[in-house]
Amino acid sequence: MRLYLDWEPESVTLKGTLSDGTEVSKEYYHIDNFLYIKDVYNNLDNIKQQFCTHRKCKCGKIYEKSYYDLCSECRAKKEKEKYLALPIVELSFPCFVNDELCMDSDSIEDYIDSNEILNNEELEIHPAIKVQFDFDIKDYIDNWESDNGLDDHIGFSDEDEIVLVECESNINRIVNSNLDWYDANTKVRMEYKWRTN
Ligand SMILES: [Zn+2]
Repeated sequence: MRLYLDWEPESVTLKGTLSDGTEVSKEYYHIDNFLYIKDVYNNLDNIKQQFCTHRKCKCGKIYEKSYYDLCSECRAKKEKEKYLALPIVELSFPCFVNDELCMDSDSIEDYIDSNEILNNEELEIHPAIKVQFDFDIKDYIDNWESDNGLDDHIGFSDEDEIVLVECESNINRIVNSNLDWYDANTKVRMEYKWRTN
């Protein structure tokens, strides 16, 4: 069964093919009836959630209902355009090659070989940055006390201070070692000698 909403400039129609091969078509809204746009959209959204198994992309392709507004081809095209519009920086490490984190130039070559990438067009390279986490335990305690209606904290002894500083650096070490890399929203132009067999 394949059901999707067909949005024409003048009407919205539920169209599709049932499991037994029956073609169905039911017009829900025509431009003349577009009196309460908000209700129309809520209603159509309901139809989409309940009945539709497919969606129609603005390029015309019918694709299986997903979280995305566009079909996979249009999404890939949009991502590519977004990537090409980014500013270019020098190649530095670590970096993301497509979605893979590479720590040095050898790992880029390995990536190219193992994914059988044949030209620059198939490569998107972004410098990678690690998220930095900086936990301040005294600030945390102050905020906790004021959030809980305590105006004055009891104060810390010298021994407390040593324990707190140690605790703070432990938290920062553990959290920072587990934080992920993310791409730096710039692209890298890479000189690479493509093998010509
Ligand atoms: Zn599309």
